[in-house]
Amino acid sequence: MRLSLPLAVLFAMSFNLHAADAPATGKTALVIHGGAGFVPRNAITPGERKAYHEALNRALDAGNAVLSRGGSALDAVTAAVVVLEDAPQFNAGKGAVFNAKGGHELDASIMEGHTRRAGAIAGVTTIRNPIRLARTVMEKSPHVMLAGDGAEAFADEHPEIERVPNSYFDTDKRRQQLEKAQRDEAAKGKREAYNGTMEAPTYFGTVGAVALDSQGHIAVATSTGGMTNKKWGRVGDSPVIGAGSWADERCGVSGTGWGEFYIRNAVAHDICARMAYRGDSLETAANAVVNEVVTAAGGDGGAIALDRDGNIAMPFNSGSMFRGWIRPDGSRGTAIHEGE
Ligand code: ASP
Repeated sequence: MRLSLPLAVLFAMSFNLHAADAPATGKTALVIHGGAGFVPRNAITPGERKAYHEALNRALDAGNAVLSRGGSALDAVTAAVVVLEDAPQFNAGKGAVFNAKGGHELDASIMEGHTRRAGAIAGVTTIRNPIRLARTVMEKSPHVMLAGDGAEAFADEHPEIERVPNSYFDTDKRRQQLEKAQRDEAAKGKREAYNGTMEAPTYFGTVGAVALDSQGHIAVATSTGGMTNKKWGRVGDSPVIGAGSWADERCGVSGTGWGEFYIRNAVAHDICARMAYRGDSLETAANAVVNEVVTAAGGDGGAIALDRDGNIAMPFNSGSMFRGWIRPDGSRGTAIHEGE
């Protein structure tokens, strides 16, 4: 059927209004990730595997405790991401990757779907839980994104934001990753001049959460240390609204992967836009963006996504993605590799 332009616009508007005005179902749902990557199954010891699952379950419990007492999706994603930031296994907060200078610069964003409020911070160095500062930007400043020294100065005005020395974020595992990346870079530098492309990273590790609360509202939070050996104040997709995080009335997405590709393809927003404009299901939209758009562009990674009916999608093109979920029927799980 071909619709004339005004009719098509009316049709699209009625679809949007319908989705936005539909009464809340009372269902709650939560999905989290601890980063996508090419982590070979045998590269994780049984002890590490157990610690990953435990951390993911602690984050699910923290988010679900909020949702099951009727709390907001915003509080639920904050609670879940704080747990993941505090867990040294993931590349956010404690355990964040090192930049090229041997320090840590952290990025985070948060968004509430039905109000379209959003907050983000980039390149902070002393904030124990960057997601809390992103939320403070959203709630207590007139801005959406603050970066570097300015974001730190904003934090100075909010004593409730816990500060730590930059070395708090150090872990031996991440230092070894930096040393390996710098050795590889030096060896490569001798072989060939920089040709404008980046070496494909093998493991990401950003954390994120998307929640649906009993009011039918959706929120998303994403937090990261970025990419190992990053230089020049590099900022990835995680604090970029529409790239690493997006939430609206019907859909929320948190991404993890090679951030440059996620920014160029507005990944998080594209997934939700496909649902809004084309009427795609969550599963179809999320799979298409991760497995077709990002893959075709040459990027790696995954995303977690959730819709207003409590459907959950967790596509990734990288062999593994640390993830966990609680569906509206209460069923829950955590997984690392494909097929789990
Ligand atoms: N997307 C993040 C970045 O590019 C990395 C990750 O997902 O771990 O900064």
